[in-house]
Order: sequence, then C-alpha cells, then structure tokens
Amino acid sequence: MKIGAGTVRFIASALPGFMTIQAHAQTLVPIPAPTDAALVFAGDQFRFWLALQAVTLALPLLALLLVKRTSIDARLAAWSGRRWPLHCGLLGVLFVLLYLVVSMPLGFWQSVRIRRLLDMAAPSFPDWGVARIGDLLPWLLLAALASWLPLWIVRRNPRWGWLGAGAVLSCAALGYLLWSGTPSASLNERYQALSDPDWQSRFATLERKAGVHDIPLFIEQTRAGQSCRMSNLAIGLGPTGAIVLKDHIFEAWTPEMVEAAYAHELKHVLLDNNWRAALLVVLLVVFGAATVNVFAVRGVRILGNRLGLTAGEPAVCLLMLLGFHVYMLVAQPVFNTVGRQFEFEADRFSLELTHHNLARAQIPSQPCAPLSLPEETRFRQLYINNHPDMATRIRFASSYRPWETGEPLVYAKYMNSKGTE
Ligand SMILES: [Zn+2]
Repeated sequence: MKIGAGTVRFIASALPGFMTIQAHAQTLVPIPAPTDAALVFAGDQFRFWLALQAVTLALPLLALLLVKRTSIDARLAAWSGRRWPLHCGLLGVLFVLLYLVVSMPLGFWQSVRIRRLLDMAAPSFPDWGVARIGDLLPWLLLAALASWLPLWIVRRNPRWGWLGAGAVLSCAALGYLLWSGTPSASLNERYQALSDPDWQSRFATLERKAGVHDIPLFIEQTRAGQSCRMSNLAIGLGPTGAIVLKDHIFEAWTPEMVEAAYAHELKHVLLDNNWRAALLVVLLVVFGAATVNVFAVRGVRILGNRLGLTAGEPAVCLLMLLGFHVYMLVAQPVFNTVGRQFEFEADRFSLELTHHNLARAQIPSQPCAPLSLPEETRFRQLYINNHPDMATRIRFASSYRPWETGEPLVYAKYMNSKGTE
C-alpha cells in the first residue's frame, strides 16, 4: 500500500528542519513543515476513506444477497401490493437504514479523531447520533420517493434509456450552474456590490489589461469567527459568470494580494466557467448514467441465475447503486485532476496579468483547512482536493516570471499592453 503521507512523514522525520531551510532559500514565502496533527489526520483520513469505500461497495451486494436469499424481497413485494415502484421505495428505505447502522461507528470514530486533533471536545455518541440521523432524513425521503426512477428508465428502454436520462440530468446540472452565478448572487443578501472607488478603478485596470470589461463582481460579507474568511471564488457559467471576493481580504491582505486573487478568479470566469465546465459536467453525467445502466443490464446477466434476479425487478436498484459507487471512484479523481489543472493555470494567468509573485505566493501560505499538509498526499490530491497543494503554488509563484527573460506568455492573448505595467 503506497500512501503519500508515509513519504511525507519519512522526509519530515529524516531531515528535521532541512526542508524549511531549503524552502527559505528557494521560495519567496517559506513552505512550513507539516504539523504532527496534520500528518496524523492525513493517515486517519485515508484509513477512514478506505473503510467507508469497502462498506459502500460491499453493502449493495450484501443487501442484494440478503433480500434475494431470504424471504425479505417476497415480503416487500407483498407489502407493496405488487406495485414495483412502491417495492423499490421500501427497498430503498431498508438500504438507507442498513447503511446508517453499518457506517455510524466509522463516522463517529472519524468525528472524535478530528476533534481531538483540533483540540476540541469530542462529541458524545447520542448527540452525534441524533445529528447523523437528522442528516439522513432527506436521504430516506429520496430513497422512498425516487428510487424507482432510474429503474423505470432501464425498464422502458434498456438499450438507450441511459442516454435520455444523461441528457435530462445534464440539462438540469447546466441549468443549476447558470442559475448559481449572477442571478442567484443578486438575490443573496450576503453578496454586495463593490462600493470603494479606488478598488473599482484597480480592478477595471486589470480587466482592461486582459481585454475585457464589466465582469460582474460581488463582495461576500463575512463575520468574525467564521472558519474561512479569505477564500474567493468564481461562480456561474458563461453569461452568468461572476467573481466573488470575501470582504475580509480587503483588511487582511496587501493590495497586491487582492489584485492577484482577483486576477486568478478572472481567469476562471474568462476561460474555465464556460463551455469547458459545461462539457466536463455533461461528460461526467452521461458516463455516469451509462455505467449505472451497464450494472443494471449486465449485472442481471451475470448474477441473475445465481440469485433468481430478473431484468427490471426492484432489487436491480441495488446493482445500479453499486454501479454509481464504482463510477464515482473513477470520476472523482478525474474531476479533481481537471479542477487542479484549472486552478494551477489560474495562478499562471494571475502572475502573467499582475506580475505580483510575492503576493501570489503569500495567498496559499494561509490555508483555510486547518489540517492540510503543505505537500499533500497523493490520495488526498486524487479524492479530496481540487486545488494544487500549498508547496506547489508557492514554488510556482516564486519562480514563474517569463516576462523578465522575454519568454512567450501562455496567456499572451489576454495580456493587453495598456494595462498596469
Ligand atoms: Zn481558483
């Protein structure tokens, strides 16, 4: 088993202090050594994730065995009056309850460990359990009311139904992304317009340099004590794209850092949150629908005789759920890797537009996540994070300055000469 955390721990223990000394010499901002708590958490999180994946993958198969090899499935059929959608709903509720029972000890263990590492009081099991059951209520409702829907699609058209489902879900996801930009932000009281004329003019100068104008900008109001008051973002899709900056950065950061952050988000609005994001969403949804369909159709062919399972019967929902989990195992790293590339390139765009190397290196040196590692584990980069780690971003910001040697810029097209420089 190869874990990045082990490698980081080995380097940290074998070369005490050396990493920091070296980092001072090479980067504009020191890359801190990983904290003990963060190293422990990285190992814990990986073990928890492995255990949860084992449960998530094994449980649909175990549930299938359980209901088909006992009289449970026949009883559910009788209780539902042989109405298959109701039968699906009962099966769904039973599965969610089973999942709750099996995953609860794991979830509680992780919650206790995280709180200890953060020097917070561990929750009591009853308090934690009540909150967890509360979280699960929407899933119970969804299982009861909607678990028949994917099966209905497979029953209607086992060959091409998934394509129709993929198209409908893609439209819904794209509609949501469009709505989540300027239309939704305009209605949100926490998002205000930028009123400071000095900052309006600074951002307008950056926009001019990039050859654009009037990019919608919202300032998100934060409050003292809030966990992360300095993470900015780009929202929306295509025509509804907008930049959101946290209000706190105008107090806590240097003007160069604010400009570097603005330029980073500007790249997302101009180059990522458009057809590229739309294509990624459509591909992920359609491939997901296809995978679930393969499990529903092929799964019955493989397991049908052994379990007495026939095409389109309610228990096939469990095979579709397994297909969904298997798909997520593959799709999540793809999604995170693409996202990480978009983020890295947004840093490059920001550097080419502002030349604020120091500011660009200072921004990632203040991470929002308390237990992050300066150099992340491979597992977390694949399954948890969609941003490059702190060390990668600091090193890049410290060394990338092609404009000094006259090398061509990657985003030369956007670097209009009538800008800040
Ligand atoms: Zn970004």
